[in-house]
Amino acid sequence: MTVKAYGAHAGDLPLQSLDITRRAPGAHDVQIEIAFCGVCHSDIHQVRSEWAGTLYPCVPGHEIVGRVSAVGAHVSGVKAGDLVGVGCIVDSCRHCADCDEGLENYCDHMVGTYNGPTPDAPGHTLGGYAQSIVVHERYVLHIRHPEEQLAAAAPLLCAGITTWSPLRHWGVGPGHKVGVVGIGGLGHMGIKLAHAMGAHVVAFTTSESKREAARTLGADEVVVSRNAAEMAAHAKSLDFILNTVAAPHDLDAFFTLLKRDGTMALVGAPATPHPSPQVFNLIMKRRSLAGSMIGGIPETQEMLDFCAQHGIVADIEMIRADEINAAYERMLRGDVKYRFVIDNATLAA
Ligand SMILES: [Zn+2]
Ligand SMILES: [Zn+2]
Repeated sequence: MTVKAYGAHAGDLPLQSLDITRRAPGAHDVQIEIAFCGVCHSDIHQVRSEWAGTLYPCVPGHEIVGRVSAVGAHVSGVKAGDLVGVGCIVDSCRHCADCDEGLENYCDHMVGTYNGPTPDAPGHTLGGYAQSIVVHERYVLHIRHPEEQLAAAAPLLCAGITTWSPLRHWGVGPGHKVGVVGIGGLGHMGIKLAHAMGAHVVAFTTSESKREAARTLGADEVVVSRNAAEMAAHAKSLDFILNTVAAPHDLDAFFTLLKRDGTMALVGAPATPHPSPQVFNLIMKRRSLAGSMIGGIPETQEMLDFCAQHGIVADIEMIRADEINAAYERMLRGDVKYRFVIDNATLAA
């Protein structure tokens, strides 16, 4: 089936309207009419070939929500008309230790929602800036938010799970003091989720202007990280830090805020490495530096259900498909609160 999409033919070209083909649903496939798709920083890196190996045409988008329009004969978990989501993963080997544990995100053969290998034309996966997508049922999530929240639920599929997974893995909950570094697409979800999990949340930002916004998102305290006295007031007090900043920065400034046995998990991926932290800062209090990448399918469903129960969605700005190039420029300036979401109905225009 030929559908309208938005994508680029080369890294130095703007995104434009394209016609792409989607396979007919196989026995285990779910065909989804995409209603909305969030715009992630990874989309920009990939489509502009800032990461190695971008294949063209490139259609980004891995924060997909919509309605099931058809299912294959052996699909039992969803039916036509259901509200569903697709995140960063559309396939994996399905039999390794990672897949068996529901951690498909760490499978060596994970297939990304765009730019991943597939037998479908044109030989690599094409993402959610499109009218529809066909995905194996294993990678399709139920959306239990009310329909009026559907657009704002889209960013949960990447920004939500990327922050939820480490918060859950390191056991964040009541009685914990948790730092969230950076208040962007990822950080704003980290604040909301850590707050809803019952933690005392300290948000860290470089910009005085974000102080009030961070409180509105659910931060109990806000620290402007350029202010040494404000930073020092939290020395050796945090159980866990979720660091969402993708720009290289001084990690030691945050390690000194961790308690004994505290962990800082990095979820932002800088193009060039952070300066190495001082080992002394780690060994003195048995502190850990860790990383985490998106999340598996079962924990993504768990996150979506938690968010539906608690009324949690992203703060979004809706755009038309033909506004995507301008939206990228605004994202690179940090000028979005906090996630752009494409209204995929505008692809038809
Ligand atoms: Zn993403
Ligand atoms: Zn696997």
